[in-house]
Amino acid sequence: MTSDVLANFDAVSRAVRQAERDAGRPPGSVTLVAVSKTHGAERILPVLQAGHRTFGENRVQEAHTKWPALKQAFPDVALHLIGPLQTNKAREAVALFDVIETIDRPKVAHALAAEMARQNRRLPVFVQVNTGREPQKAGAPPEETEALVAECRALGLMVQGLMCIPPHGESPAPHFAFLRELARRCGVESLSMGMTEDFPIAVEMGATHVRVGTAIFGDRPVMNLGRPSV
Ligand SMILES: *Cc1c(COP(=O)(O)O)cnc(C)c1O
Repeated sequence: MTSDVLANFDAVSRAVRQAERDAGRPPGSVTLVAVSKTHGAERILPVLQAGHRTFGENRVQEAHTKWPALKQAFPDVALHLIGPLQTNKAREAVALFDVIETIDRPKVAHALAAEMARQNRRLPVFVQVNTGREPQKAGAPPEETEALVAECRALGLMVQGLMCIPPHGESPAPHFAFLRELARRCGVESLSMGMTEDFPIAVEMGATHVRVGTAIFGDRPVMNLGRPSV
């Protein structure tokens, strides 16, 4: 039900504001990225109509089927790419997305820099860090993050911050604290961390962006848990 989506969205928005207050942080210092992957326009529209403008999708191809029409109706949408990017999708990604959160290797940074120059679209980017060093998970190894941020900057990319997805079933707080420290060392401002299960903790630990899907849009189909299809 789309009315559920709206009620959920209101509850999550209030929870984010509450977490800001609890952490003694200014109201509005955390951006809620509403993660709409796997959900159709009929569930996204109520959130857009409520005035929200920041959304996240994890697959370029899927986003391409939904967002061009939605962006035409709501031109001030900021669409974040939060899933792994293949270099052969860089062109499409730069054309459609407004923020790229998932740079995790030099090859991707180079492809994005070339496309941004070609399309004259300079998007803010995040470097994704594999804080749990999980072999199956995207993200730069922690010890390579500073060098990757430096390489991004040398390519002219606007590195806004770092992003992480802590290992499932582990306490997320140490990962959030680690990302914050790494961001400080890299000299970047923003921290994209925290999802449905742990966004209040992430806000407490300094998140500037929380990426929340399930708590807003409901469960996703079992076939598509947001992992890359390859
Ligand atoms: C799907 C996804 C989210 C949202 O996860 P929920 O647990 O549904 O809130 C956040 N970040 C990334 C990278 C995702 O792929």
